[in-house]
Amino acid sequence: ARKPIIAGNWKMNMTPAESVVLSQGVSNHYDRKWDKVDVVLCPPSIDLRSVFTVLDFDKSNIEVGAQNVHWEASGAYTGEISIPMLKDVGCTWCIVGHSERREMFGETDAMVNKKVRALVESGMKAIVCVGESLAVRDAGDAEGFVCDQVRAALAGLSDDEAAQCTIAYEPIWAIGTGRTATPEQAEAMAAAIRATVQELIGEQAAQGMRILYGGSMKPANAEAFLACENVDGGLIGGAALKADDFAALVAAA
Ligand code: 13P
Repeated sequence: ARKPIIAGNWKMNMTPAESVVLSQGVSNHYDRKWDKVDVVLCPPSIDLRSVFTVLDFDKSNIEVGAQNVHWEASGAYTGEISIPMLKDVGCTWCIVGHSERREMFGETDAMVNKKVRALVESGMKAIVCVGESLAVRDAGDAEGFVCDQVRAALAGLSDDEAAQCTIAYEPIWAIGTGRTATPEQAEAMAAAIRATVQELIGEQAAQGMRILYGGSMKPANAEAFLACENVDGGLIGGAALKADDFAALVAAA
C-alpha cells in the first residue's frame, strides 16, 4: 500500500510570527498514528526558519516543503530561491508547477520540468501540480490535457527518478472556490495519471507513485477522496491555515 501524504500549501499567507503559531498548533495535534502519513507543511519561504524553530524541538513526523524553487543552484536570478538554500534550512519537499504559478507567473511545462529534474537530482521530494481549467474540462479534454502536463513534467527523468515524484491533481476550478471535484472525477483523473505514468516508467513504479487530490479539500469532504483507490492524499490550501482542520485531515488519511 502507498503511504498517504497530507501536505498543506499555505500560499502567500502567514507572517513569520504567525507561522510559528500555526506550526505549533499543528504540532500540538501530533500523535503516533500520524507516523503512517507523510505530513508536510509548505509555508512561504520567508517563514521556513521560523517554522523550524518549532519543529526542531517537537517529536512529530512533520516535514517541511517550499512552494517554489529555481532550477539553478545559484547566480543572478533576482528574487529566486535555490535548492541548496532550501536544503540548508531543512526542507525536504517542494511544490512545483502549482496552477497559480503557471497562470499568474508564467511558469511553463518546460520550466516545471527543469525544476522537477533539479529537485530529484538533489534528493528533494517534488510535489508536481497538474490540473485543467474549467474551459478545458467543458471542452471534454481534461484527461488529455492533464496527462500531457504529467508527461512534460517527468520528461528526461530516469525511471527511478520519476518514481520518486508525487503528482497532485488540482482542477483549477476547484481551487479556493469551495467547489470540489466529485470523488468520481478525482478518481478517474488519478487513474488516468497513473496509467500515463505506467506508460512512462512501468507498472511497478506507477503503482508505487503517490497521487494527491487538491481543491477545496476539508475535513467534511476528505473521507470520500481518501477512499478513492488511486488518490493517496491531499494538497490542502485554505484548510491548512487552521491547525484543527489540518490535523483532522491528517487523522482522516
Ligand atoms: P484550496 O484547498 O484552498 O482550494 O487550495 C488548494 C490548492 O491549491 C493547494 O495547492
